[in-house]
Amino acid sequence: MASSRHATRPRARRAATIPWGRAAVKGPYSVAMARIALVTGANRGIGHEVARQLALRGDTVVLTARDQATADEAAAELRAGATVEGELLPCRLDVTDPASVQRAADTVAERHGRLDVLVNNAAIHYDTWQRASDADLTVVREALETNLLGAWRTTLALLPLLRASGHGRVVNLSSESGSLASMGGGTPAYSVSKAALNALTRILAAELRRDRILVNAVCPGWVATDMGGPGGRPVAEGAASVLWAVDLPDNGPTGGFFRDGHPLPW
Ligand code: NAP
Repeated sequence: MASSRHATRPRARRAATIPWGRAAVKGPYSVAMARIALVTGANRGIGHEVARQLALRGDTVVLTARDQATADEAAAELRAGATVEGELLPCRLDVTDPASVQRAADTVAERHGRLDVLVNNAAIHYDTWQRASDADLTVVREALETNLLGAWRTTLALLPLLRASGHGRVVNLSSESGSLASMGGGTPAYSVSKAALNALTRILAAELRRDRILVNAVCPGWVATDMGGPGGRPVAEGAASVLWAVDLPDNGPTGGFFRDGHPLPW
């Protein structure tokens, strides 16, 4: 992974102040006001850390995983690990299972009547083992089903609740692997799925602007997780890149592709 595009080829880390950071948040959300956030694939990796950071500062987090027991376990671990200010609500949500996505949406509707933040984090198949010219299309289909359609399906189910927020934020976990500007050979299923997710990000952003929902794609950088492997940056840094997009003020950017608060080429 270290030598890949996904790995966010080492570049000079920008020390500049991140624009539109939480300190810049204006409008109805102050640091003191809790939001309702749902994170997919929050039982491990970047999703788990995003859920932790949101709960630490007092947001209500719907921590989702492919099965209920795993979600329960992940939430218990977070409650045990630190003084979590916000409520943690473990919930089953398999992004490839429409019924489970709808049940999760119904649960949020019943409990909260709105959703302020959706983090589409769940993803699979960083397929370093194959090339487009010899690809197993079953793997490609699975990647698209989770990485593209899973995020799309989840967004659709939660859209009424994001609209009800009046200040919705959708953050799609993308990757520089999905950047057409730098795309070469390799990781075909993953790269195509993330390029498609980027396209979806732009289309949704345009369509949802009038609902005051900001939709952005974020590359967390190369992060040391099960997917990223050893050698990447700490998971807290990858999650911070995501939190930046969560914290955008109402007049912040939408339809963009960012890492650490800075635009990436499409
Ligand atoms: P990870 O450690 O492999 O975790 C992936 C998470 O997604 C797991 O919780 C997994 O659940 C969940 N998931 C997979 N399929 C799912 C489904 N059908 N429904 C619900 N959840 C599902 O990956 P990560 O490194 O944290 O990556 C998180 C996001 O960042 C991904 O979108 C990835 O593409 C992106 N990203 C990562 C890196 C990196 O270097 N790590 C770089 C660029 C972008 P299970 O435990 O049940 O499998």
